[in-house]
Amino acid sequence: MTNPLDRSTPRAVRMAQPLARDVVEEIAKQYGVCIRPVPLRRQDILTGQVEVIDVPCGATLESKCPPCAKRNRQLRRAQCREGWHLDHEPVNLPDNADEYQRHLVELRADVQAWRDETEKAGGDTSDLDAAIVELDEEINAAGMRGNVLGRTSGKRSRSTKRRQDAPDLPKRQMTKTTLGRTFSGSDGKVYRPSMFVTLTLPSYGRVLEGAPLNPDAYDYARAARDALHFSKLVDRFVQNLRRVAGYDVQYFATVEPQKRLAPHLHMAIRGTLPRAELRQIIAATYHQVWWPSTDDVRFEGEHLPIWEDGAGYLDPTTGEVLPTWEQALDRLDVDEDAQPLHVLRFGDQLDIQSVLAGTPDADQLIGYLSKYLTKSLGDALGTDDPRRKAHAERLLDALRFEPCSPTCPNWLRYGVQPKGAKPGMAPGRCKGKAHKPDHLGYAGRRVLVSRKWSNKTLTEHKQDRRTWVLEALGVEDEPVDPHRYVWRPVKPGDPELAPIGVRLLRSVHERQRWRNHMNQLQALGDGLNLSATEARAA
Ligand SMILES: [Zn+2]
Ligand SMILES: [Zn+2]
Repeated sequence: MTNPLDRSTPRAVRMAQPLARDVVEEIAKQYGVCIRPVPLRRQDILTGQVEVIDVPCGATLESKCPPCAKRNRQLRRAQCREGWHLDHEPVNLPDNADEYQRHLVELRADVQAWRDETEKAGGDTSDLDAAIVELDEEINAAGMRGNVLGRTSGKRSRSTKRRQDAPDLPKRQMTKTTLGRTFSGSDGKVYRPSMFVTLTLPSYGRVLEGAPLNPDAYDYARAARDALHFSKLVDRFVQNLRRVAGYDVQYFATVEPQKRLAPHLHMAIRGTLPRAELRQIIAATYHQVWWPSTDDVRFEGEHLPIWEDGAGYLDPTTGEVLPTWEQALDRLDVDEDAQPLHVLRFGDQLDIQSVLAGTPDADQLIGYLSKYLTKSLGDALGTDDPRRKAHAERLLDALRFEPCSPTCPNWLRYGVQPKGAKPGMAPGRCKGKAHKPDHLGYAGRRVLVSRKWSNKTLTEHKQDRRTWVLEALGVEDEPVDPHRYVWRPVKPGDPELAPIGVRLLRSVHERQRWRNHMNQLQALGDGLNLSATEARAA
């Protein structure tokens, strides 16, 4: 049989070989090559040269591409290890957007433009919408605070000030440090303890092996709302934690699915607090969702609000204009008897561990933190277990008409115009991530890292690896001017786009050449001083 990787074999012959896509994918996986590359057309402004370049898909941890997911896990582990037992204050320079951040913001603008074009042409924008969400996350992760669009509305401080009162907790004087306390042993040795905390949501009904014993008694509505607003509860917990601890507590946390399909949180915390105090904080933490009421279903089935240009959505029977999002919130503000739409708290099941720097325990927990990152919340929908599958479907049903955000079309069902209302909206047809089977209500980030966790952003950790490899190869890592290239998307049927099998094999070939080079370098042992494991890890 001809070697499929041999470039001298004519392409037609190579393609005729029984290399089904899954076989090629297997080979690609073995070589750690991205199996879902995103083709982009890159134009070099200086030379005018245009080429189609495959960019690895792995911008997110949820990636379904195993090689990219693995690489991301390794990066996250390095990031977690770096900050947990830090013994000096991290030096942060968050206020200067560096070149990379600027590049991201420009890319964000491009993607927005493609999205708008696609929408105008009547195309499906869901992929581009997802890309925008991911870019926003990446922009934040790169050290920028807030959203590139800025706040789109004034902050509604009135109602939140009145109603989101701080829980009754002890409060310490705030010190400027981000480091935990140290303790000296009798032998003079200095100990730097930290914590590992696992937080869950409350029970919605008894569960056996990931499915309710009595589905009719299981509180799906509450499970759905808790999942939708989970990240807000985590924010509150961190606020309360800092207030009580009296220092700028830093954390590295991951959100993972429990078997019963509720999100839960593992958090590595730098420094320690007495256990009793931590329990008190967890018990006192809550979050109130001050959104309009959804008790009253006003429009459903064929009886839906109708859009009128210049007016917005109208009641189809009376012709009355429905309140806008802002108006609905104003009404809520003045209503002294109003209740929050939902209140979240943590469940009783929690776990608190103390960890010492550099111990096997610490290493094990770091591995644990990143273990399930590639599992999506909705994996149960794909299982053969009929009980778990039905459970996931019921939760998905409960999420169908639950508003996921102020812009969710589901608000129309309850007689409120969604924020930024536009024609073509219908309840039950929200494209938001939270309603999707992969997310089951939780659309937030899976990894939450505080800004002063380590000295490095994830981008810098990536850059570290890149620099290391290039040094090992004896190649100079020249900074590339981010303005040098203009990137454009490549449409699936583009004649310049080679079949996916060919593209994957090309990448495998590249990787193979690079590996050979690394092996040669190692065999030479030319003072590089790299262990085999290090080389493999790269
Ligand atoms: Zn990939
Ligand atoms: Zn929605």
